[in-house]
Amino acid sequence: MLKSALWAGLGGLWLGLSGCEAILPILTDILSEAPGQPVSVQADRLLPPCVDDDCNCGDFRDQALAQQVLDGFEGDPFVLDRDGNGLACESLPPVSSGLDPSVPPSDNLHLTLGNPSNAATGNPNNYLIERHQYALAYNRDRGIANWVSWHLDARWLGNTERQNDFRQDGGLPAGFYQVTPNDYRNSGYDRGHIVPSADRTANVKDNSATFLMTNILPQAPENNQGLWRGLEEFERDLVYQEDRELFILAGGYGEKDTLAGGKLTIPTRLWKVIVVLDQPGQGVAGVSANSRIIAIDVPNSNDLLEDWRSYQTTIDRIELATGYDLLSQVPVEIQAVLEANLSQE
Ligand code: MN
Ligand code: MN
Repeated sequence: MLKSALWAGLGGLWLGLSGCEAILPILTDILSEAPGQPVSVQADRLLPPCVDDDCNCGDFRDQALAQQVLDGFEGDPFVLDRDGNGLACESLPPVSSGLDPSVPPSDNLHLTLGNPSNAATGNPNNYLIERHQYALAYNRDRGIANWVSWHLDARWLGNTERQNDFRQDGGLPAGFYQVTPNDYRNSGYDRGHIVPSADRTANVKDNSATFLMTNILPQAPENNQGLWRGLEEFERDLVYQEDRELFILAGGYGEKDTLAGGKLTIPTRLWKVIVVLDQPGQGVAGVSANSRIIAIDVPNSNDLLEDWRSYQTTIDRIELATGYDLLSQVPVEIQAVLEANLSQE
């Protein structure tokens, strides 16, 4: 429960039960909470992942979500209400527009667990691109993908060398700005792969597909070369050492700054979800309420803890932050369990 709501409720109760002393211990308990602490043990589970490290207004998709965080903590520890009027991040849109209309299930392998934003070809900022090597929802105005989804098992891994052929994606529709490798020059940000080059080493064509700029986003170098790389190695080790089959989803949200004259957004936060199938080769039927899930949400920053395990969260909280429905093809009863589970590696 949020503290303001609790106060309002207790205020009414106080007036209604004037003289009742039973309520005093509750009020004393609330007043003794230190500033900067969540108002209840539950609160941080119902708030976006940035509350685990540091929220900024650029981390939120709308004002309503920023307001939930402001109301969820005593003393505005993230400084979301600079003018002190009780409203957080007033420059954000009041509420986000909802998901696009639902789309029929795809037979693309990489969309086996679903299409998190109902991406199709009608909305340029939720534009579906399906490749043999991965599927993604591209955002024209941000110049980066909303998310990329890919399958990983031993068949995708071989000995092909890293091609390093970063290039603009000529497959984008006419009128879309095509981000170029040079747009990142002198930005201080790496050209960060979403599908890692090393997840696609069976042949030259597959590896080269990971260097299309639609699979790349501006990533802080220490994030890219540090913990993010650590998780990429971890996911491949699940295949190399345990012969697992995985579905992986990742993306960036929020806006930190832009490059290329505003055509390329630097996201504030990066997230990744890995679903480890119980039984290989069964598609979505290989996901159960006991499936192993790995989920992280991390600042796109150079100031990070070294281990990706420090940034584990729940899929529910990534859904809250992004507005997507992850694992939408998984039966809802199973989603409910898996998405509430804290990733615990
Ligand atoms: Mn990388
Ligand atoms: Mn979901």
